[in-house]
Amino acid sequence: MATPDMEDIVRLCKQRGFVFPSAEIYGGFRSTYDYGPLGSLMLRNVKEAWWRSMVQLRDEVVGLDAAVLSSPRIWEASGHLANFTDPLVDCRNCNERWRADHLEPAEDGRLHCPNCGSTDLTEARAFNLMFKTHVGPVEDEANAAYLRPETAQGHFVNFLSVLQTSRKRPPFGIAQIGKSFRNEITPGNFVFRTREFEQMELEYFVPPADADEWFAYWCQERMRWYVELGIPAELLRLRQHERAELSHYSAGTADVEFRFPWGWGELEGVANRTDYDLRAHAEASGTRLEYFDQATGERYVPYVIEPAAGATRTMMAFLIAAFDSDEVGGETRSLLRLDPRLAPYQVAVLPLSRKETLVPVAREVLGLLQPLAMCDYDETQSIGRRYRRQDEIGTPLCVTVDFDSLEDRAVTIRDRDTTAQVRVPIDRLAAEVTGRLGLPGAVPPAQ
Ligand code: ATP
Repeated sequence: MATPDMEDIVRLCKQRGFVFPSAEIYGGFRSTYDYGPLGSLMLRNVKEAWWRSMVQLRDEVVGLDAAVLSSPRIWEASGHLANFTDPLVDCRNCNERWRADHLEPAEDGRLHCPNCGSTDLTEARAFNLMFKTHVGPVEDEANAAYLRPETAQGHFVNFLSVLQTSRKRPPFGIAQIGKSFRNEITPGNFVFRTREFEQMELEYFVPPADADEWFAYWCQERMRWYVELGIPAELLRLRQHERAELSHYSAGTADVEFRFPWGWGELEGVANRTDYDLRAHAEASGTRLEYFDQATGERYVPYVIEPAAGATRTMMAFLIAAFDSDEVGGETRSLLRLDPRLAPYQVAVLPLSRKETLVPVAREVLGLLQPLAMCDYDETQSIGRRYRRQDEIGTPLCVTVDFDSLEDRAVTIRDRDTTAQVRVPIDRLAAEVTGRLGLPGAVPPAQ
């Protein structure tokens, strides 16, 4: 499968309402983006698919929704105030700023400015990526606060409360989805790298002796998740970090990478964070953060395996992987081959025409399907154009109400991928649609 151009993806996102440049009427705002009617649906679906696999289908993982605005004491203890930095270089010629570790050395071994080609760059200096703000009206150090640069830490500072209230024992996990903020030096590649983004992070607490085994387990499990939701395996790879690349807290990290149009890029990092964070917070707060096993009398600080994924970045990867075109009836059509669980709309209800006689039946069908799936309703333009519109945004099924429907109380279901059509009685429509979409608890469709 050919990887699409990034321009195709950006155009689709803008024209069909997935992602808009933020504050566009003011000329945009510094690589920030807003998720439109379709993008907000799809992003929810990505997060829901993650939550389902990480929390709902497991009995040893619980959820958390911690504050974004956070105490400097958290980031001081975690090491982020000292270490969460990128190496920043300035070009003395054109004044552009770059991340030194993202610049390719030229043949002479020196770093060149990608903008003007100059080698007159400053020495790299550590630039802290955290956004600082002040809580309350006084802007002094005593009132400093940070927007979290990762959702993790919420998991660690709530470790004891979660342990006590959930009565879990290692191996157990705390899952969280939410916004994170990093003052990236060079945001770019559309929503791949932005300063405000959404993460989906699991902190999985295990007995220290089992950490390597759980690390291997989560690497495989997370690769499987992407494949199961439709990303072809050849567009994915697992890359182990070199020693020098490891974060300050990590004893081992592997990235799940996706082949973006510009090359391989990270979707998710799986890290063995050891007992670094719990020990750091225990020391700084004076609170014991341990697990006490009443049965054996054993007391220990668990190790943590962390699969940390980006929801916004991952949504773009799903869009890129699903982007396709084929020939139908001698014409080229564009389509998104999205898994029904990720598609913004699962069903489009389309009356053949806007005739007054058809609309009530179409609305009845819509009312029948809306509680089961996210539905679009469209009665304008020719039916062929409406099918193509739905193909282009990845809607797996179209349900068409025509004049025969008034007589036989049946409708046509059209499949996005095959364009095959079947006639189904309205009475059986709900079961047929849920079966075809593979919705949870669905009965497989009658063939
Ligand atoms: P990079 O090296 O690309 O800056 P990272 O290794 O620091 O990223 P992590 O801290 O491992 O990233 O974050 C986990 C996940 O969060 C990433 O795999 C990515 O999907 C997402 N993420 C991180 N930073 C950004 C960003 N600026 N914009 C969008 N998503 C991001």
